Amino acid sequence: MAYKFIDNYKEQGARKRLVEVLKKKGIEDENVLAAIAKVPRHFFFDETFWNQAYKDIAFPIGAGQTISQPYTVAYQTELLHIKKGDKVLEIGTGCGYQTCVLMEVGAKVFTIERQESLYERTIKVLPHMGYKPKFFLGDGSVGIASDAPYDKIIVTAGAPTVPDLLLRQLKIGGILVIPVGDEKSQKMVTVLKTAENDYERHVLDTFRFVPLVGDRAW
Ligand code: SAM
Repeated sequence: MAYKFIDNYKEQGARKRLVEVLKKKGIEDENVLAAIAKVPRHFFFDETFWNQAYKDIAFPIGAGQTISQPYTVAYQTELLHIKKGDKVLEIGTGCGYQTCVLMEVGAKVFTIERQESLYERTIKVLPHMGYKPKFFLGDGSVGIASDAPYDKIIVTAGAPTVPDLLLRQLKIGGILVIPVGDEKSQKMVTVLKTAENDYERHVLDTFRFVPLVGDRAW
């Protein structure tokens, strides 16, 4: 893929229109909308496909994976209720678009990807754009114990169940957002850790993610 890091009026205008689309679909958090308006999503696309970058659609990024739909990224980010300086574990870095949105809303991000080709690309692209999360290569279904506990955990691939180790790595008062279901569709689930071994779960809208593959996953 040939990346080009140029952000013209055309792309900036397209981002503003995307924000209006997301507002109409129900995204309300001003910080999340400002992050979507700021992160140049076309930087994750080959220039040939820049005309697709600000459509509210998922798009292939190689290795059989996708850049998530902007609505999905905004929806999951909104559910995390991120406060400036929150330690956030992201499982499924992919191309890193969600990572940038999390950092724009003030999170300190720890992000893990299991596909080496995506990991290798993202560790170059994100710092070049000015985003410096802590990158990991490996199976995020077991979390990252070395940096736990986290204020928030976001899983950007569909899981069969909520992985137990992720709950353990969440601070009390912390929130986990994860799509749970079968290979075809998942419900977005939020888990608030109210006390050690005590959780409040909410099951929300239906989405379709690529599968979370790993020890505590598919
Ligand atoms: N967050 C990305 C974005 O900003 O568009 C989209 C991520 S894509 C929908 C899901 C990613 O999760 C894929 O890159 C996939 O390789 C990764 N993945 C799946 N299982 C994983 C696991 N156990 N650990 C880490 N990454 C995983």
